[in-house]
Amino acid sequence: METVTTDHPEIREAVRKLCQGFPGEYWRRLDRAQAYPTDFVKALTVAGYLGALIPEEYGGAGLPLSAAAAILEEIHRSGGNGGACHAQMYIMGALLRHGSPAQKQAYLPKIAAGVLRLQAFGVTEPGSGTDTTSLKTFARRDGDRYIVTGQKIWTSRAEHSDLMLLLARTTPRDQVKKRSEGLSVFILDMVAARQAGMTIRPIRTMMNHSTTEVFFDSVPVPAENLVGEEGEGFRYILSGMNAERVLIAAECIGDAKWFIGKSVAYARERVVFDRPIGQNQGVQFPIARAYAQMRAAELMTHQAAALFDAGKDCAAEANMAKMLAAEASWAAGEACIQTHGGFGFAEEFDIERKFRETRLYQVAPISTNLILSYLAEHVLGLPRSY
Ligand SMILES: Cc1cc2nc3c(=O)[nH]c(=O)nc-3n(C[C@H](O)[C@H](O)[C@H](O)COP(=O)(O)OP(=O)(O)OC[C@H]3O[C@@H](n4cnc5c(N)ncnc54)[C@H](O)[C@@H]3O)c2cc1C
Repeated sequence: METVTTDHPEIREAVRKLCQGFPGEYWRRLDRAQAYPTDFVKALTVAGYLGALIPEEYGGAGLPLSAAAAILEEIHRSGGNGGACHAQMYIMGALLRHGSPAQKQAYLPKIAAGVLRLQAFGVTEPGSGTDTTSLKTFARRDGDRYIVTGQKIWTSRAEHSDLMLLLARTTPRDQVKKRSEGLSVFILDMVAARQAGMTIRPIRTMMNHSTTEVFFDSVPVPAENLVGEEGEGFRYILSGMNAERVLIAAECIGDAKWFIGKSVAYARERVVFDRPIGQNQGVQFPIARAYAQMRAAELMTHQAAALFDAGKDCAAEANMAKMLAAEASWAAGEACIQTHGGFGFAEEFDIERKFRETRLYQVAPISTNLILSYLAEHVLGLPRSY
């Protein structure tokens, strides 16, 4: 399938080549065992892709967001899944923008070199869900350290990460003027934390995502691991969300292209009633519609990335890109299953796996409803609904 995507052609080509070493059989095997794609992540790290957004002065590639998006899109377009490592690309942004010079020197070069994995992002909690500022995990100052108590849920890759970016409350909610105040970000050493009261419990999910629950039972964290200023953490987390939205959108676009490519190939070759099934408009139209949806989402994603790379506000575009791309990949997955008839359900075609994988992105990292309410309130000026 040809598309007009022309940005970063060398990167795209190189990522496609790398992904050839990790074919459908590789992902299927891991999916069955719900196992982490260690070799794939290692290969990406060695090739420098996970350090794409880390500036060159810290040993990264210093590439723009559009290049990181191209990397993830190509992984998904080739049938793989960047969910195993995409966070490493963007959560370091909080450290880069708000960390002290000492923190940046201590962590970023090692993350860029693949010596330290910063894959885990502890924001969501069972009791607060999308209402992030209601989170209960508390970091109490105690001399030159903080003592963290609470629980996170859906902390993906926690078992495969050396560091976690943790959002916790440092001032009780009833003692701050605005509910977004009094939250702080910490960079947590996972090995030290596990030895001092942090436990990780994996959650099995409908797709292979290495996600977990994390429990903090009076876990000490050195005060020097506070990122930026105490109480400003929510702002720091928000500042990284646009990059996250754009990168997830790119993954969905990759998924949509994979589904559409498979659908078109199969619709051309599968003959029923003495003609290719793709000759029937009932088969063509869902694929064509998904293609149109994907292309629209792709344009929005490119625009969001371009604004981000130009240092301009891209919150609306990043949110729209993520929503449209997640819907497009789902439409393409649906068309792909339907086009393949019974074979759409057979493991060896990878369609059912990708179908399960791409469904996540209408819920995480932010659900469609929350994007719509963002647009309604902040772009259209409608009253806040919650
Ligand atoms: C596999 C997986 C991996 C994840 N990885 C991470 C991770 O690494 N780190 C992390 O911190 N989090 C992670 N998450 C959490 C994810 O970001 C949340 O699941 C998501 O933001 C939705 O929150 P929730 O599940 O608590 O749903 P809830 O907040 O309980 O919402 C449930 C439903 O109600 C809707 N809803 C809620 N409030 C409103 C409203 N006011 N108006 C309209 N609709 C509303 C939502 O749209 C949603 O559909 C992950 C989740 C999954 C499933």
